[in-house]
Amino acid sequence: MRPEILFPFFCPVESLSGIGEKTAILCSKLCGSNVVDLLFHMPAGFIDRRLKTKIAKAPLNEVVTVEVVVDCHYPPATRKSPYKVLCHDDTGQISVVFFHVYGNYPQQALPIGKKCVISGKIEQFGALNKQKQMTHPDYIVPESEVYKIPAIECVYPLTAGLSGKLLNKAIRAGIEKTPLLPEWQDPAMTKREGWQDFKTALKIIHCPENEKDLKETPLAKQRLAYDELLANQLALALVRNNMRRLGGRRICGNGQIRQSVLKMLPFALTNAQIRVLKEINKDMDSPLRMLRLVQGDVGSGKTLVALFAMLNAVESGAQAALMVPTDILANQHFNFIQKTVNPAGVQVVLLTGRDKGKKREEILKQIASGQAQIVIGTHALFSQDVVFKDLALTVVDEQHKFGVHQRLSLSEKGKSADMLVMTATPIPRTLTLTYYGDMETSRIDELPAGRKPITTRVLPTTRIDETASALKRKIEEGNQIYWVCPLVEESEKIDLAAAQERFDHLNRLFPGRVGLVHGKMKSVEKEDVMKKFSISELDILVATTVIEVGVDVPNATVMVIEHAERFGLAQLHQLRGRVGRGEKESTCLLLYANPLKQTAQARLSIMRETQDGFKIAEQDLILRGAGEVLGTRQSGLQEFKIADLSTDQNLLKMARNDAKYIMNIDPCLVSERGKALRLLLHLFRKEDAVKLLNAG
Ligand code: ADP
Ligand code: MG
Repeated sequence: MRPEILFPFFCPVESLSGIGEKTAILCSKLCGSNVVDLLFHMPAGFIDRRLKTKIAKAPLNEVVTVEVVVDCHYPPATRKSPYKVLCHDDTGQISVVFFHVYGNYPQQALPIGKKCVISGKIEQFGALNKQKQMTHPDYIVPESEVYKIPAIECVYPLTAGLSGKLLNKAIRAGIEKTPLLPEWQDPAMTKREGWQDFKTALKIIHCPENEKDLKETPLAKQRLAYDELLANQLALALVRNNMRRLGGRRICGNGQIRQSVLKMLPFALTNAQIRVLKEINKDMDSPLRMLRLVQGDVGSGKTLVALFAMLNAVESGAQAALMVPTDILANQHFNFIQKTVNPAGVQVVLLTGRDKGKKREEILKQIASGQAQIVIGTHALFSQDVVFKDLALTVVDEQHKFGVHQRLSLSEKGKSADMLVMTATPIPRTLTLTYYGDMETSRIDELPAGRKPITTRVLPTTRIDETASALKRKIEEGNQIYWVCPLVEESEKIDLAAAQERFDHLNRLFPGRVGLVHGKMKSVEKEDVMKKFSISELDILVATTVIEVGVDVPNATVMVIEHAERFGLAQLHQLRGRVGRGEKESTCLLLYANPLKQTAQARLSIMRETQDGFKIAEQDLILRGAGEVLGTRQSGLQEFKIADLSTDQNLLKMARNDAKYIMNIDPCLVSERGKALRLLLHLFRKEDAVKLLNAG
């Protein structure tokens, strides 16, 4: 499946000379286990070893390279003292110093009477005789092997146990081993931008030899970033073409169910909801398959938009499915939707991973017979044995946990089903293009009328007791409170203990009125607590971030976030959106622990200043980088290795246009350039997209 010319790029790192199993494991931890992963691991800076000088003239504490003659060895007198080797050139003397010497390394590296070249930093000791010394030179080679010292050495992000020297060597070996590839970029573009070819660009970045190379590094990096972005955009375009090719169908209900549901709602739809529904209905009415992304701020009423789209399908006699990431959310949506559409006679079922045996079979039967008109579920909807009678619309809620790959496999379920994706939070435009470039987008850019703004306060944790007693008044006034503690995988145990401790603390103050939910609890237990909170049997809900997505308790008006400095902006915004949903004034308290880093401080200020999710998302991208905005780092979705979305927006625009152009003139990638572009897709691991090509 992978073209033969690319085999050297996908060899295991171990196949490179001088790279053993141990190093290979470290490499795969750092960047990946294939040669190509090393090539796309970008250096963060350089060490310049070009300064070849004499001992007397060498600047101190800078990296230099000097040729010396070895005079004599002074093995350490005690175990703690260093091993010294005295050397000279025609300008002076220098000691080469080693600590913790094993075996006879110094004798081997620096034989007495021989000329050697050493590279490292020279320091000077002693007030009187100004002894010069080089401790643990980076390189020691015999005079005849001076070529082994790289003139300019790259500095890479590393992982514990892997030395920069070894990584440099591995990457250079990787470049040596990989062949020249045919050019996939438009020659007019490379000429206009002054870009080198792919291999030259790699060489300039990883093995710069002179001033000219160093000057050209930014251009080389740009070329590779463009390669990466084009691969991304092209893959999305192929996914899009493929989904479109599978064909759609016209769905246009008569509006009767929607009318009756609308009449029973205690409010009217917002203008933004109406506008977005119009866009959706138009797509559904078209014979082409709908691929639409709906973005809306927290609380903008995305669920209702999804529901009306599903009812459109139901009215035309077909089924609709709503897929959400967690059991809690599935339950919540099920309860709301069931309550809302049952009076209109619409049948709704819930399917989660927890349904087993008889119960599951019964649900599957209802789905297969078409009796279930709306199906709500988690990933369980993916299973082989879930077969719909006539699925016309799939809605994916809080979608950022589902990548292109999942979108494809979901679209297999209903061969021509329309697809609607709802994001949990607003996403900056750049990210929309790179992650959802295969879809049309709609924005619900208006909150329902009457929402009171949320007062946000930023306080140090030292004022936690004060905060707790302020809650007393709030509770007496009939308000409910969320109290969020952070939970990250790396420090899971400590975090869990902290959440438990906070629960105990608050439970002492408000006995029996406090609940605790965290990710390690069983779903049933979690739901039980959530339920108690939603029917006001509990006043305070202490939670790790499990309540992050979706829960809706309008009577909750206070959100306390402990260690707010540890949360990302999107998360903070999402959490804050849990309050301010009812008639009453709401408050968000962001408690932080000192010392507060600059970016954390910036995040908290932004939170205090604005409630506009789209603005917050743009800031988040600038402050944190793309991977984290979407939470992709955790979910293992692709992130860019070379391109930096906070700065490469122009390149992205170019790549997007380029991909569109390519799809127009050569949709199957069969031209000369098309064939080369297939290589590009493989290099950036877009096999899924290439597979679509071969199928079509
Ligand atoms: P989100 O976009 O965050 O998923 P939801 O769909 O959960 O938002 O809606 C948030 C709350 O707003 C819910 O309680 C919902 O019933 C309510 N809501 C939705 N649309 C409107 C509207 N047009 N007017 C008033 N309230 C609305
Ligand atoms: Mg929602």
